[in-house]
Amino acid sequence: MKKSIIFLLFASLCIFNVDAQKKIPHTYRPMGVQPSHRTEIILPQVNGYNVYKGDFHIHTSYSDGRVNPKGRVTEAWLDGLDVIAITDHYEGTSGLKGALKVAAPQSADGKAMGYKSAKELGVAPADFNAIHKEAEWQLKRSGYPLLVIKGCEMAREPKEYGHFNCLFLKDINSVYDPDIAEAFKKVKKQGGIVIHNHPSYRRGTTDKSESHKKLYDAGLIDGVEVANGVNFYPHMIRRCVEEKLTMFGNTDEHGLTSARFGSLNCFRTMTLIFAKNLTEKAIKDAILKHRTLAYVCGYVAGEEKLLCDFLNASVECRKVKEDAKKGNRTFMLTNMSSITYRLRRGKTVYELEPFKSVMVTLGKDKKTGEYIPPRFRVDNMWHMDFKNPTFELELDK
Ligand SMILES: [Zn+2]
Ligand SMILES: [Zn+2]
Repeated sequence: MKKSIIFLLFASLCIFNVDAQKKIPHTYRPMGVQPSHRTEIILPQVNGYNVYKGDFHIHTSYSDGRVNPKGRVTEAWLDGLDVIAITDHYEGTSGLKGALKVAAPQSADGKAMGYKSAKELGVAPADFNAIHKEAEWQLKRSGYPLLVIKGCEMAREPKEYGHFNCLFLKDINSVYDPDIAEAFKKVKKQGGIVIHNHPSYRRGTTDKSESHKKLYDAGLIDGVEVANGVNFYPHMIRRCVEEKLTMFGNTDEHGLTSARFGSLNCFRTMTLIFAKNLTEKAIKDAILKHRTLAYVCGYVAGEEKLLCDFLNASVECRKVKEDAKKGNRTFMLTNMSSITYRLRRGKTVYELEPFKSVMVTLGKDKKTGEYIPPRFRVDNMWHMDFKNPTFELELDK
C-alpha cells in the first residue's frame, strides 16, 4: 500500500513536469502582435478640394540614399503622407561626362556599387524603372493607399544649372539626353513636369543665371522647391507667384525621415496639394494649376490667398459673447487641423494647437469706436518676401 502511494506520487510529479515543459513557448511576444501605427495628419477640405500630403524628392539605395524603395513606401505611409515620388539621381556629379548610373545596389559579383557611371563600371546602363517596380511591389504587398509617382533627379554642368526633378514619367530610362533642355523636352513629351530643386545649392545666389534663364524662358520649369529638407528659400515665393511656378516642400531624404525630423517636434517637410482626389491625374492637375503650399518645420509657405483659405478652413471662429457695457466681444477659436497655428495680435500670441480651442476677447478700436474683428498675424505662415500674412477669420461659418 505504501509503495503504491509513493509510485502514484512519483508518476503525478512526472506528468506535472511534462505539462510544465509543454507550456513554455519557443517564442514569446511580450507585446503581442502590434502592427505599426501611421501618424494621421488631418487637414480640412479647402474650396472643395482635399488637401493631400506629398513629398516629391526622395532618394533610395539605388543612388546615394540609404533606404531601399520598399522602405521608402513604408516610411511615407507611417509618416502620414498620401503621395510620394522616388527621385534617384540620374547621373553622377560629373554631369555630361557621366553616363547613366547603375540602378542596382549591388553588382553581379555582390560588391556594392559606388557613385559611378555604367561606363566606368563596364556594365549595361541602368533600368531606372526597376526602382519604381520595387516600390509598387511593396504597395501591392501592404495595401497602403499611397500614390507613388515615377521620377528622377537630373544634375548637370555647368554647375549653375543645379539639380532638377522630373516627375510623372512613364519611362525614366528614355528621358536621358546630354543636353538638359532636350532631356526636359523628352520629359514633357511623356506628360511629365520639371521642378527646380534646392535653388540656392551650388550657385550661391537665388537669382537666375544665364543657363537657368534659358530653361525658364523656354517654359521647361514648372515648379520650385521653396523648402528642401529643413531649409527654406524665402526669395522663391515671390518668383513662384510672379512667374506662375508651383511651390514645393520636399525632404530630399537620403537617410531616415525619423532621424532628421523625429526630434524637431514637427512633421517631415511636405508639399500640400489641393486636389479633387488621390489619382496621378488629379495630383498633376493641382500642381500644374499651382494649388500647393509648402510645409517646413511647422511653417506653411505659399501664395497669400491660398494660405488665407487654408487657415480659414482649419480654424473655426465663433462669437460666443458680446458685452455691450464693457464694449468687447469674445470669440472661441477651434483648430480643426493637425497643424499648430501661432496667431498674433500685437504682443499677444495665441498658440492654437491641433484640435484645441482658445477664447479670445477683443474690444473696440479707439479711433473708430468699432469692434475689432478677429484679425491676426500668422507667425508660422510665410508669403511674399518672408512676411507673415495677416488674415481675418471668417465668423460663424
Ligand atoms: Zn539635388
Ligand atoms: Zn536630391
